[in-house]
Amino acid sequence: MSDKPRKFKGGVHPNDSKALSASKPIQQAPLLESYKVIMHQNIGAPPELVVKKGDTVKKGTLLAKASGFVSVPLHAPTSGTIKSIDKCPGPTGISVPAIEIAADGEDAWESPFEPIADWMNADPAGLRQRICDAGIVGMGGAGFPTHVKLSPPEDKTIDTLILNGAECEPYLTADHRLMLEHAEEVVLGAAISARILGLKSAVIGIEENKPDAIEKLESVAGKYNITVQSLPVNYPQGAERQLIYAITGREVPIGKLPMDVGCVVQNIATVIAIAEAVVKGLPSIERVATVTGKPVVNPGNWRLRIGTPVAKVLELAGGISEQPAKLLLGGPMMGIAQSSLDVTVMKNTSGVLLIAADEVSLYTSEPCIRCGRCVDCCPMQILPATISQAVENKRFDWAEKLNVMACIECGSCSYVCPSHRPLNQHFKRAKVEIQAGLRKKS
Ligand code: SF4
Ligand code: SF4
Repeated sequence: MSDKPRKFKGGVHPNDSKALSASKPIQQAPLLESYKVIMHQNIGAPPELVVKKGDTVKKGTLLAKASGFVSVPLHAPTSGTIKSIDKCPGPTGISVPAIEIAADGEDAWESPFEPIADWMNADPAGLRQRICDAGIVGMGGAGFPTHVKLSPPEDKTIDTLILNGAECEPYLTADHRLMLEHAEEVVLGAAISARILGLKSAVIGIEENKPDAIEKLESVAGKYNITVQSLPVNYPQGAERQLIYAITGREVPIGKLPMDVGCVVQNIATVIAIAEAVVKGLPSIERVATVTGKPVVNPGNWRLRIGTPVAKVLELAGGISEQPAKLLLGGPMMGIAQSSLDVTVMKNTSGVLLIAADEVSLYTSEPCIRCGRCVDCCPMQILPATISQAVENKRFDWAEKLNVMACIECGSCSYVCPSHRPLNQHFKRAKVEIQAGLRKKS
């Protein structure tokens, strides 16, 4: 293990509730009768459909091809027939196009590409193209195309690759289980990513509340000159800027990217997907997600195919023992509340979380009492209370001047606010309004 990491400013310590699922090994979900694969699963351009209703497909068949550099393809999660190409509930509550596949029960493979066994001597550009062809996006939540992250412009010198094993969101344990059960794939994916970036090493940052994962990865990391760095438990330790600071001491200025300080950060599940795409020739058609919360009968970690309806996910976990107050995709701090059980698992769905009625915090329109707690905890060192008031007054120009665009939507300020003000919601709204204003001007 390397030297003591730096502690970033701000942060909070919510009850992590990880004990519900942390000890539960990853289980493979059984084959379902049908899947609905949401078309647009990446930041950037949506892919272009290449199948039509009535087509037969195999597991791995291309459903939609990338439509630009910042775009990724989609592949079939099982073999069967395209039953419909229609709208289904999307994760933001808006209906979105989705491809429904009626499974034929065979689960027959059509691997769209050959394994690259000798990846150590392969051309980095070819490895990067494979990651694009496999449809890999950041699986920690953002959904940013991974091949783009691994394509820094020539004028940016990258000297540090960081693997994000912090998993600081309460309740989520999928990355923890992946590090324990697939440690070799984690270091393999890291080594492939390092080769693409022209680096000879990488560092894996893991919060110190996962000592078993630290020990496991330390036992295999040396093979590819990878080091493991334990990190203090402090939410949002897994946010890119905070992780980079903790490990390297470099601060990413507001408005800049990790690559501007020589860093690339990859999520644990994402590097496993990289290893599988390169060494086994597998496209991104499934992911491990935590299914948890007090109302869930059997919380655990499941390997789910992309397109699995959330209603089926909850059935796998034994159903519910009490009526939940809230359903979230992701964790309680940054997850997105859902209004339908028909929403389906996407490549960036890290968790399905049910919150019980006695756990939910209701927002109010109480005034700010100027306690300053939100300012103290903000890891981006912006002024949540002042920005929130600007948004309430519809002064999005003020909010922009106060750097609302730097907000990483970690939810820490909402968590500590004694007036239960909807701070994070205000910032999301301000960003939408500011971006809409910019589009009008252009
Ligand atoms: S203002 Fe944004 S970055 Fe700061 S604590 Fe609130 S949600 Fe997090
Ligand atoms: S935490 Fe809430 S009440 Fe306190 S200053 Fe921030 S917005 Fe105001």
